[in-house]
Amino acid sequence: LPGLYIVATPIGNLGDITLRAVDVLRGVSTIACEDTRVTGRLLHHLGISGRMLRYDDHAGEAERERLLGLMAVEPVALVSDAGTPLISDPGYRLVREAKERGIAVTSLPGPSAAIVAITLSGLPSDRFLFAGFLPNKAKAREDTLRELAAVPATLVFYETAPRLEAALEAVAAVLPGRQVAVARELTKKFEECRPGSPADLIDHYRAHPPKGEIVLVIGPPVAAPTGEIDADALLRAELQ
Ligand code: SAM
Repeated sequence: LPGLYIVATPIGNLGDITLRAVDVLRGVSTIACEDTRVTGRLLHHLGISGRMLRYDDHAGEAERERLLGLMAVEPVALVSDAGTPLISDPGYRLVREAKERGIAVTSLPGPSAAIVAITLSGLPSDRFLFAGFLPNKAKAREDTLRELAAVPATLVFYETAPRLEAALEAVAAVLPGRQVAVARELTKKFEECRPGSPADLIDHYRAHPPKGEIVLVIGPPVAAPTGEIDADALLRAELQ
């Protein structure tokens, strides 16, 4: 059927492709992807030879129009290099436009690094705020953390190995006392999810410079220690 099919793909372990994703990727006439080499490798592994069209962060109106024209008459899949499209990846404009034009949009669930990291972190998973990549520059990074400091939820950020230490330093400075977990190379051979205080993790990664892809998970604000609350209560009692 014509329409847009958003297809999640593995974040490292090719075994994580879903049966439905394989069916859809095999059945569509066009696969919109960020990088034809990366998606080409996945398709090759699956034995699929589909037509790929590049649709990335730099895609303009013309590429979008072309895809929208196609999906009005035939099925088109959207994939990203890894994981779930639109999650810190291109696609939301395409989805918005498709819906405005009455084109059917279907999303096939599958891996997303943020969700894998939350499940492995050991930090509270009942409420979380996914905040994409932390900004590159020190001031903007700290401002972002300050903005989110009072959010009563676990915070989840995408990171890169070269920036991990700076990110942990910013967390130590702006969000003191928080528990953190660094999830690295998820679903891959050297997967790890290391919990600790920012200071412990800085020490560890100075000694063992991290490689690969990283998700930084930060526990929610710590409730006021009971000691303080008791002291307040005592004080009030004395004043009465
Ligand atoms: N759309 C993807 C998803 O659903 O996870 C995320 C795309 S984003 C451009 C890439 C970032 O996701 C990486 O910098 C890293 O923070 C995170 N990531 C992707 N794969 C990962 C993995 N296997 N292990 C840890 N983090 C990963």
